[in-house]
Amino acid sequence: MKTKFKTGGCLCGAVRYEIKGPLRDSIACHCVQCRKTSGHYVSATAVHKLDFEIIEDTGLKWYQSSSYAKRGFCSACGSSLFWDMDDRDLMGVMSGTLDGKTGIKTSTHIYVGDKGDYYELTDDLPKFDGYEK
Ligand SMILES: [Zn+2]
Repeated sequence: MKTKFKTGGCLCGAVRYEIKGPLRDSIACHCVQCRKTSGHYVSATAVHKLDFEIIEDTGLKWYQSSSYAKRGFCSACGSSLFWDMDDRDLMGVMSGTLDGKTGIKTSTHIYVGDKGDYYELTDDLPKFDGYEK
């Protein structure tokens, strides 16, 4: 039986990935780093690193965004794709880079204390000033 992989990638195709396992629901992060790298805020899913494979990396660059995490982006088209925290089994994947229907929902807003003043959060989802838990 053939497993149906989820796929995704950047705008130009110089970064492509495959996911062979379940996707966590998407978490919207309003921290300053996510706002700067995305231009607004980020909503990201997470997958187990064992279920995650980068199949095209010609454009992939990593930026060490903090002492404990780096962000993957495409150096050709500028798409922000990954958030990888050291020593963590999960890879954060920006949900907007998934191809087609994702089958997940946004579950939570985090770092709402850092959000921009030019938008409001009007949904009923849980909101945390920092990271949940
Ligand atoms: Zn690209």
